[in-house]
Amino acid sequence: MARPFLVCLPGSSNPKHPGLRMKRSKTPPAACEEQVRQRVRQHAALFREGDDPVAFWESLCLELADCETAECPPPETRQARMQTLFMSLRTPVLLLNADFEVEVMNPAAVALVEGDRMDAWAEGTHVPVPLAELAPWLAAPLEDHRQESSEAEACRMGVAVSQKHGERHYNVSVSRTSDFSDRHDGFAVVLDDITERVEGERQLAEERNRVAHYLDVVGSMVFALDAAGRVTMVNRTACRVLGYEERALLDRDWVDALVPDEQRDEVRDCLYMIFSGQLEDEDERFHYVTTREGEHRLVQWQGKLLTNEGGLPVGLLLSGTDVTERRAIEEALAEKELWLRNTFVALGEAVLILTPDMKILDANPAAETMFGMTNEELDGLPVGDLHVNPAHYDDFLARARSAFEAGERAVFELPLKRRSGVIFPADHSVSIIDGDDGTTLGVVNVIRDISDRKHAEAELRRSEEKFRRIFESIEEGYMVTDLEGTIMMVNPATCRILQYEAGELVGRSIDSLYRIAEERGGFRKTLEAEGTIRSRQMNALRKDGTTIVIEANAHLVRNHRGEPVAMEGTFRDITRRIEAEKVLREREKQYRAFFENNHAIMLLTDPKTEGIIDANPAASDFYGYPVEVMRTMSMSQINGLSRDEMFEEMRRSMDEGRTYFVVKHLLAGGEVRDVEVYSGPIMVQGVQRLYSVIHDVTQRIRLEQDMKRLATTDALTGANNRHQFFSQAAHEVARAKRYDNPLSVIMLDIDYFKSINDTYGHHAGDVVLKVFSETARTALRVNDVFGRLGGEEFAALLPQTGLEEGLEVAERLRAAFAALSVRVDEAVISFTVSLGVTQVRASDRDMEEVLNRADEALYRAKRMGRNRVVKG
Ligand code: GH3
Ligand code: MG
Ligand code: MG
Repeated sequence: MARPFLVCLPGSSNPKHPGLRMKRSKTPPAACEEQVRQRVRQHAALFREGDDPVAFWESLCLELADCETAECPPPETRQARMQTLFMSLRTPVLLLNADFEVEVMNPAAVALVEGDRMDAWAEGTHVPVPLAELAPWLAAPLEDHRQESSEAEACRMGVAVSQKHGERHYNVSVSRTSDFSDRHDGFAVVLDDITERVEGERQLAEERNRVAHYLDVVGSMVFALDAAGRVTMVNRTACRVLGYEERALLDRDWVDALVPDEQRDEVRDCLYMIFSGQLEDEDERFHYVTTREGEHRLVQWQGKLLTNEGGLPVGLLLSGTDVTERRAIEEALAEKELWLRNTFVALGEAVLILTPDMKILDANPAAETMFGMTNEELDGLPVGDLHVNPAHYDDFLARARSAFEAGERAVFELPLKRRSGVIFPADHSVSIIDGDDGTTLGVVNVIRDISDRKHAEAELRRSEEKFRRIFESIEEGYMVTDLEGTIMMVNPATCRILQYEAGELVGRSIDSLYRIAEERGGFRKTLEAEGTIRSRQMNALRKDGTTIVIEANAHLVRNHRGEPVAMEGTFRDITRRIEAEKVLREREKQYRAFFENNHAIMLLTDPKTEGIIDANPAASDFYGYPVEVMRTMSMSQINGLSRDEMFEEMRRSMDEGRTYFVVKHLLAGGEVRDVEVYSGPIMVQGVQRLYSVIHDVTQRIRLEQDMKRLATTDALTGANNRHQFFSQAAHEVARAKRYDNPLSVIMLDIDYFKSINDTYGHHAGDVVLKVFSETARTALRVNDVFGRLGGEEFAALLPQTGLEEGLEVAERLRAAFAALSVRVDEAVISFTVSLGVTQVRASDRDMEEVLNRADEALYRAKRMGRNRVVKG
């Protein structure tokens, strides 16, 4: 198939702008010169979508023209080159004649122009076809263009064409072509595909639209200012907030238009500094703007410096948020928070602010005190650490969670632990802090130490329990009535005493329990007058009609205003006590009579204090004190024995199995009497007493003592008689032998006593014997035994005394007697004594043997001239 081709001739008069001359040739091209073809191909490969095809073509033409100049190839060769180029272009190119008929199209144009007439075009032998037939979409705008500017050399217009690949856009270049004689002969139409660019622009426009829309819908106020500070753009929000129409703000000085007088200088300085780079543009700033209505709004501003390609500032984009309300809320919140904080700090109850994961975020001073930890120590501490153990903490979490789920505050009691480890009962109130979006911001745990309350509760319970127990278990009746006397409450003892069932008494009038109407009236009267009654005896009626005697206490129960509201009383059945007292009183009468009228001396004493409680008239007579005085005295005042003597007597009494003590009592006049005291315990009016009957045995004891003395002593001299001496001597000898102690014996005989008798008479002799005996006893020791063996013969036993010492004692006695002179009437009598001394020996069989030896010594003394001591 023959193809149309293009003839291009570089024939422009101006070589710098060679016009394109295209000539349709009927002649097929000759073979292409290989070198040019290659160059064209290289160049064509450089063509890119979006390149201006005309300029591209021109540049190649110039190159080829140069080439022609250099090598001057024949026109046919150049023609072939141009045709190749033309055919290989992907840019559709159409050549029209002056009548707007298509004469030549390249393949790219053929592919584009798809219409009914294509068949005619292909079949026709290159007969020109009107453009309107081949491509009406292109013809119409070109026609319009031609009519508008018939003189225009070239035009550019966007044409949209629908193809099977979708809508595409072309930039159409139309160049007027001329023939060799420079006569206009048609147009070269180049269709530059700008679909991509149009699409890009459309997207850009959309994007711009979106930005504009965004700016309009955005909540912030947006202004664009130029470098002079004039408003070049304002969004809808700004207009709405400030109450201005858009055009009322555009081109105005932003500061003048919107900033209140007093802040203008400051804001202007600020803007200047941002423009000059002295201030960071993106920092947030707050200042007021004035609305059209004159209202001041606080706005938070943020700027963005707009710069040109060279980086120089050309404007400022300002976005502002009206924070007037927010600031007001913030201030109110801050105030509220301060108030809350103060409350938090001042609160007596411990408050822990917890994070959602139950760590302590904040604690008030009360909490610090409660747990003995500082806020710093508590900070970040898991609240579980304050619980007694993990089980308690789980309990805490479970209670808190279930309350939260129910949307309530959790209130419960759970003990906690102080730092010291001390556990205390605590009352918890746990609330959740919800954020606006429903998230949990934290938890507030308010804690009250309820140790005191617990303690008080326990005390109260104990007290109530105690009261109840007392109420139920006491033997005393307990009863509460109202002011009319209706029984409201009774305890079990009341029922027991009165023999009623509890149900029978409650609701009944107390009047029915009185036996005697006067007692009832008196009781009520006293109670109303005095408010209280103590230990009143009354007669009460039991259910079976029998009477009992009760002792009642009662008082009026008053309310907090002091008005009487009830009567409360306790009572005891004292019937048996009354009977017992009666019996006792009778017994006492009998006892009294016995006590008072008895001749025996009787005393009633307190065994603890020895105080005399009572004394009968016989005692009063005996001791010499009136009964009243005796009742004030103590036994110690009449007891004549020392303490030790008293103990000794008690011991003796026990040893001898006696029922009495033998002691000495002092009478009022100072006389000492020997008495036997018979004592026994006795209960008198419930108190332990000692009842004593006293026998005066003075006379009897004296008689006994006299008889004893008479039996053992010598009547004239008072010395031991012979029997007593021998008895004691035997005792002493035995003891001396037992303990191997020395024992000496002295025998004494007065010299020539017979002559004393004879000279001064028998009586004088008796007096001498008495003085002799007294002198000897005075000279001897207490433990020595001195006795009269007969006539004027005496003996002395010296226990624990050896012979030498015995001799010394004997010599001392001899000297004492020799120096003695006894006055009897007118006579003065002197005498001497002879003494025999011996020591008891182990070989001595009995006292007889010892005394014989002493006697022998005495006899020797006599023989040796008397008045001497001789050892035997
Ligand atoms: P001597 O011992 O130095 O050899 O001479 P004597 O005179 O003392 O002798 P003898 O001892 O034998 O005398 C004892 C006298 O003591 C005899 C008696 O009359 C007298 N006599 C004895 N008992 C009593 C008495 O109770 N009263 C008085 N007055 N004389 C008495
Ligand atoms: Mg003699
Ligand atoms: Mg003699």
